[in-house]
Amino acid sequence: MAFPKHRVFRFAPSPNGHLHLGHAYSALLNFELARRCDGRFLLRIEDIDLGRARPEFEAAVYEDLAWLGLDWEAPVRRQSEHFDDYARALERLDEMGLLYACDCRRSDVARFAAAQPDWPRDPDGAPLYPGMCRMKPRREARDVLAQGGVALRLDMAKAAAMAGAGLSWREYRSSGERAEFAVIPADPSQWGDVVLARKDTPASYHVAVTVDDALQGVTNVVRGRDLFHATSLHRLLQRLLDLPEPRYRHHGLVRDEGGEKLAKSRGSETLRALRDAGVSAAEIRRRLGF
Ligand code: GLU
Repeated sequence: MAFPKHRVFRFAPSPNGHLHLGHAYSALLNFELARRCDGRFLLRIEDIDLGRARPEFEAAVYEDLAWLGLDWEAPVRRQSEHFDDYARALERLDEMGLLYACDCRRSDVARFAAAQPDWPRDPDGAPLYPGMCRMKPRREARDVLAQGGVALRLDMAKAAAMAGAGLSWREYRSSGERAEFAVIPADPSQWGDVVLARKDTPASYHVAVTVDDALQGVTNVVRGRDLFHATSLHRLLQRLLDLPEPRYRHHGLVRDEGGEKLAKSRGSETLRALRDAGVSAAEIRRRLGF
């Protein structure tokens, strides 16, 4: 079987904190895989969350990755400059009748769920949306966000029915020297009626990532295992929006000494802290197995 001529990989950090060893692993893996197949390596700045993304963290991403020895194609795609692309995708879903306006607050949903025994939760642990706003009269998606509506949700039952059966993705499995891909059945329903846009973040991560991977011609999505279940949702959006299907590889997460996942929110050791402590880029690469 012939390989596609140009495989395209990407590393897509959100600049809302400094990069840690987990990011370094993901970036190095994408870079190495691209290098080995003479493919392309892209860097994408996922700064749609305007309340949390900060220019100094973005500058630090470039600095830390260059220090690690990576280089990437220019120009770098910065999601905050492409809200129009995401709005077009949302409009298309809206024209298909798959979006509805929701003005419930997170706390309303949490309160409802807490009062029900065993209320279902999504793979990230958040209670599924009970559907209070689903039956309200339809409003144009565009108007909802412009007029201060809180959120746009995907009508999951309708979307899953429209996407049809047999939704799956191909997941890399290591098998000696050869790359093999297992077929993983996608189960987007486990996310319920997800929010695809909010007034303060006009496109969710799920919309932005699927639109961008398609627009940038990404053929291989290589990212942490924490995003494994999100892929079900991404495959659903790809099918609904007629976007190509990349191959996926969800790699293990780098753990700290106590076995905990590294996270910006927990102040896990950042690349710059390690660098300031005198650790070299070569040592980091070695420690991560490159
Ligand atoms: N921006 C996401 C993050 O920093 C990664 C998205 C992806 O690789 O699909 O967690």
